[in-house]
Amino acid sequence: MQVGSTEMMIVMQERAGQDDVDRILELLDGAGARGYVSTGDLVTVIGIMGERDVIAGLPLEAYPGVDKVLPILRPYKLVSREFRHSDSIIAVGGTSLGGGHVALIAGPCSVESREQLLDAARIAREGGATMLRGGAFKPRTSPYAFQGLGVEGLEILAEAREASGLPIVTELMDPRHLEAVAKYSDVIQIGARNMQNFQLLSAVGEVDRPVLLKRGLAATIDELLMAAEYIVKEGNSNVILCERGIRTFETATRNTLDISAVPIIKQRSHLPVVVDPSHAAGKVDLVEPLSLAAVAAGADGLMIEMHPTPETALSDGAQSLDPAQFEAVAVRIREIVAWAGRQMG
Ligand code: PEP
Ligand code: MN
Repeated sequence: MQVGSTEMMIVMQERAGQDDVDRILELLDGAGARGYVSTGDLVTVIGIMGERDVIAGLPLEAYPGVDKVLPILRPYKLVSREFRHSDSIIAVGGTSLGGGHVALIAGPCSVESREQLLDAARIAREGGATMLRGGAFKPRTSPYAFQGLGVEGLEILAEAREASGLPIVTELMDPRHLEAVAKYSDVIQIGARNMQNFQLLSAVGEVDRPVLLKRGLAATIDELLMAAEYIVKEGNSNVILCERGIRTFETATRNTLDISAVPIIKQRSHLPVVVDPSHAAGKVDLVEPLSLAAVAAGADGLMIEMHPTPETALSDGAQSLDPAQFEAVAVRIREIVAWAGRQMG
């Protein structure tokens, strides 16, 4: 298929049926274009990607069930609020996030050993986490720092899922590991340093696994949304965005949590947004206030680093909560989620 841009969307009538949608998809297919169906509560919308001139020549408005054909004005199309008005809700294992469902993703920065991760999984579950995180492939600033256990780490994660029942979130850094990471994980994380690794984004767009996409260290909100578009364009619409702090002149924190990114993303996109206060702050004592602020601002989830013994952590110990701290923060998070009229998981 040619590389085109999804400039247009077809808004179906409320009474349109699946046969009407199928007829349009067939028409688009025959014209070498691709249709992306978004089923809302009331109406179905079909985004179109293809050659602009070819699409302009199609008699779309004459087709049964079509209400109107509109341009999508934002630079990102399928992830925009214009394309889909209602919040996307992403199901992961038995839990959800988005549209009033708040996720608490907790676990160590890195999988270090079987014992460490099984311990972390138990603490996460007892504290009310809805998912377990842990990196097996680690993007480290220094090539001499611990790089992760690789496939062995993935196997340990899978064992922790069995033991705890919590779905697994783990990072993919290289398309060569896609098959293994997709096999063992429930959510594939794309790290901040890879937010604009476009081949990696397209690769995860082709698999049937939700993707948690972290905002780049120096990326604008629109650049994050364009990166998400790379994934959704390939057919994987289950993308979770993550604000994890950006580089500013401030040195009191590791990064600056851009709290305004949360409501701005919600205005511009239907995708859920999660906040990672751990990498934003870099400090344990800031995790609670930033978590509460994130939920109050409308975040659909939190991703928090927690370690059974942070003082021995091979990465990010200074920002990792210990079990008692995690338990206490999780209580406060549940309170604010209830205050916000939303629910955990
Ligand atoms: C992580 O979540 O472990 C991580 C490396 O985060 P980031 O990509 O946001 O730096
Ligand atoms: Mn980390």
